[in-house]
Amino acid sequence: MTAHAYPLLIKQILDAPLAHAPGQRIIDAEGMQYDYRTFADRIGRAAGALRALGAGEGSVVAVLDWDSHRYLECFFAVPMIGATLHTVNIRLSPEQVLYTINHAGDDLILCHADFLPMLSGIAARIERPWRLVILGDEAAVPDTLPSEGGYEALLARADPVREFPDLDENTRATLFYTTGTTGDPKGVTYSHRQLVLHTLGVAAGLGPIPGGGLNRGDVYMPITPLFHVHGWGIPYVATLMGLKQVYPGRYDPARLLGLIAEHDVTFSHCVPTILSMLLDAPEAEGTELGRWKVVIGGSALPEGLARRALQRGIDVHAAYGMSETCPFLTVADMMASRDPDAPANLRTATGKPVPMVRIRVVDAEMNDVPPGGTATGEIVARAPWLTQAYLRNEAGTDDLWRGGWLHTGDVGFLDDQGTLRITDRLKDVIKSGGEWVSSLALESLASTVDGVSEVAAIGIADPTWGERPLLVVVVGGDPAGIRDRLHAAFGQAVARGALSKWAVPERIEFLDSLPKTSVGKLDKKALRRRFA
Ligand code: AMP
Repeated sequence: MTAHAYPLLIKQILDAPLAHAPGQRIIDAEGMQYDYRTFADRIGRAAGALRALGAGEGSVVAVLDWDSHRYLECFFAVPMIGATLHTVNIRLSPEQVLYTINHAGDDLILCHADFLPMLSGIAARIERPWRLVILGDEAAVPDTLPSEGGYEALLARADPVREFPDLDENTRATLFYTTGTTGDPKGVTYSHRQLVLHTLGVAAGLGPIPGGGLNRGDVYMPITPLFHVHGWGIPYVATLMGLKQVYPGRYDPARLLGLIAEHDVTFSHCVPTILSMLLDAPEAEGTELGRWKVVIGGSALPEGLARRALQRGIDVHAAYGMSETCPFLTVADMMASRDPDAPANLRTATGKPVPMVRIRVVDAEMNDVPPGGTATGEIVARAPWLTQAYLRNEAGTDDLWRGGWLHTGDVGFLDDQGTLRITDRLKDVIKSGGEWVSSLALESLASTVDGVSEVAAIGIADPTWGERPLLVVVVGGDPAGIRDRLHAAFGQAVARGALSKWAVPERIEFLDSLPKTSVGKLDKKALRRRFA
């Protein structure tokens, strides 16, 4: 009866770095630098300041910020007092931001000065009483906003929290919104227990890779916005490991490359378009990237991009997950890829489940699609960290969890090595003459053609075949003869049996740039509208 039932809580993530690396630094692009002792002290102060403003169990605290050390402090301080951290997607339209603030029921909004004009525009339509804190120093705030002043001033005079409560581990810790192709944004939540288990699972998956992965010698810099699935949860992992961490603020290629050089950053993660943008930046030429490990997620890692990264000495791997999965489900095989004879597509494959994750590929009746063949099915998952419900959205939740497995909406297969390979999103599949054409396979192949900077394959209506693939290309290098090179590459792929003849797109369009979603992924919906 006296044994302690230890709840899994975010506050415990902080214990390890304070024991092992108290002097290690956390750096912010704005110039703030401090060690983990100061970090923990500031979390205690932030918690005290939030409590003084009425936040605590049951309240919702929203953050609108670039990737900053203050955001990282909120990752801890807000849930540690029992409140929910709402990480607002600052790239949504003001109307969508307003929708999420009202749906979440935010009590306090912590907002960087850059987003005050947007917030002012929607403030009158925020339904609940709310209060504002400016993230940073005091800023000139319009009278119409219920400002409590600047975060730094509040921390300076706060009564710090030294002992955080032993909450129920199932207490809701975080909330954010994912935008689907239709309907309103959906609220996704995670508990303390889920975030702790995700942190441990990802650390166990990435940690034990000799010379690779993510380990105590690394310097970490996220290049995934912290509002996108808690920066893919890696800020919690990096904190647990007591790593030197660099928070880059607003993304700017020259600045990001400068920070990599200045702080010897060795580990980052981002979507493919960001890596491509960094490699294209003029500053990339003179930046040493040979010690940089990058995990690419959010979209498939095209083979052409992986090759460009490898040529620069970057240790690049794909990972797979989604907003509803905290997000990690699988990571490319980082051990096997170290073998010099390993095929390059081991790095771009969606990979194998991280510890504690179970993956199946199923048909419409939830029967397993046999692995190793050519048949594809929907990827479904179970893990201790999958969102249990969309916030106040029963129909959406039932659909997500049909048959007790989380439905990813992604299509793929398990190859004969048990490696997951995604071929498409269900809503992006191209169906031509009754057969599925993998848009990701077409994109990956086209990405290896000289002069192709970005590429998207979409299905467009066709009177004979139902749909035909259309390739949309952004030219980066020499445009002369690019159409012929693309046709030749597809012809060769057909000749060696890598592509079916009917999958080859006959129509290729060129654009100056491709539309992107709020998290920097290809916006295929916009492309389909354009070429409908
Ligand atoms: P989000 O909820 O915005 O993070 O988007 C999740 C979706 O991104 C997944 O359902 C996939 O369609 C896609 N995605 C993420 N990682 C990968 C990957 N490695 N390969 C292919 N698609 C991916």
